[in-house]
Amino acid sequence: MVARIVLRACKACNFITEDEVCPRCGSPTTKEWQGMVAIADWEKSEIAHKMGIKTNGRFALKVR
Ligand SMILES: [Zn+2]
Repeated sequence: MVARIVLRACKACNFITEDEVCPRCGSPTTKEWQGMVAIADWEKSEIAHKMGIKTNGRFALKVR
């Protein structure tokens, strides 16, 4: 069997992680999320500005 990594998204800041607790803000994460956006340069990213993201990384567009 191949071990699959389940990605989770933070309920507070949408940060995508494998952990059950967000490494950025310490909030609980969930498996119920949709759409991933990778921010490589948040200062120049329009999406990052729209979403209020001020750090690089992967974020979920929609978190339930
Ligand atoms: Zn977070």
